[in-house]
Amino acid sequence: MRRLLLALPFALLPLAVAHAHDHDHDHEHGSLGKHEHGVATLNVALEGNTLEIELESPAMNIVGFEHAATSDADKKTVAAARAKLEKPLALFSLPAAAGCSLTEHELSSPLFGDAEDKHDHDHDHDHDEHADGHDHDHEHSDIDADYSFTCKQPDALKTVDLTAFYKQFPATQKINVQLIGPNGQKGVESTPANARLTF
Ligand SMILES: [Zn+2]
Repeated sequence: MRRLLLALPFALLPLAVAHAHDHDHDHEHGSLGKHEHGVATLNVALEGNTLEIELESPAMNIVGFEHAATSDADKKTVAAARAKLEKPLALFSLPAAAGCSLTEHELSSPLFGDAEDKHDHDHDHDHDEHADGHDHDHEHSDIDADYSFTCKQPDALKTVDLTAFYKQFPATQKINVQLIGPNGQKGVESTPANARLTF
């Protein structure tokens, strides 16, 4: 397993708790107790020539459901999403001048069949639309994607544009971003209207 630039600094980052969003950011990959549909987390770190991007998203935002894909239609949806996630440069737009190329990536999700976490949810459970909402009793599943890029001209890497990501996965309404770059660390709440991140 590669060394994760991101693993330590974020544990110390006060920004993560500055907001009221109780995001349960345990960093356990795969299945979570709770998360907020429509909201994803993105960690972006540039160190030397290496750019790392880590996405943690409710599967709902990416494929529209969180149960294991058993029907052919669901399997196709998951395969299509996976194919998109395997081309991160079409989701996270980097300045061409930076010359970044993908060197490593890892996708993980219970929906990809790489977790033992199974539950029977093919029937439509009726959702209680209580205003206070967040007491789901069904299980949630995340889709996580970790990428590592090598950039020939990291000085030219001033921005990361998430516009294409929002277009490809329109159920994503907000991405809580942590950026680490030459100018230090910062937290950004990105939305489709505010999709351009600046280091
Ligand atoms: Zn969920």
